[in-house]
Amino acid sequence: MKPKPTNQKELTNTEPDELYEQVVTQSNQIEWVECEDVYKPIEKPIKEFIEEKEIRLPYTPVYILQSALTTLKTHLEVNKTVEQGGILFGQAYNDSQHGIYVEITAAVAAPATIGTGAHLEFTSDSWQGIMDYAKSTHPEANIVGWYHSHPNIGVFMSGTDMRTQRAFFYHPWCVSIIYDPIRNEIGCFLGEDAKVVKPAVFEPMLLMK
Ligand SMILES: [Zn+2]
Repeated sequence: MKPKPTNQKELTNTEPDELYEQVVTQSNQIEWVECEDVYKPIEKPIKEFIEEKEIRLPYTPVYILQSALTTLKTHLEVNKTVEQGGILFGQAYNDSQHGIYVEITAAVAAPATIGTGAHLEFTSDSWQGIMDYAKSTHPEANIVGWYHSHPNIGVFMSGTDMRTQRAFFYHPWCVSIIYDPIRNEIGCFLGEDAKVVKPAVFEPMLLMK
């Protein structure tokens, strides 16, 4: 996001320093302009959502399609010696009463060349590359989070993971899924503070009833 002065006409034909001063003095009037990659959750009552998806589970902030979960686990089980990861695609919603909730519909592996490669752990730099890759290969899809493996170290958000979460996945609907393919443990964390949540897994709807 970049700040846009509320009155652009006043700011034309001014030197950069002057412009800066005007922006600063008018800071209480600055409105924030959304970048094209920032998107807003859809307003929808969660009751409606779970009825549509035929989910018979209590309300939770994270819903993951069974096939996305299977793809994620299968990917992370391929190599159990290094961290691997990828991007979660889906849709965020807002319920006026229950707040933000998110539907994860796909998990897409980050190419090894962009991910850790020979290193053991992802860094913020890796995730910048992975995000750029995900946006270029799936321009129509919404990124709602990320996932990665913790081979035989258990499921928790490390210091590096928290930095990644706060740098790239800070929206309240952003999900981090961590899977330990050796201990067979999985965890789900939501938002900037990586709150532990228990996701509901749902099946695709059958066309024939
Ligand atoms: Zn980690």
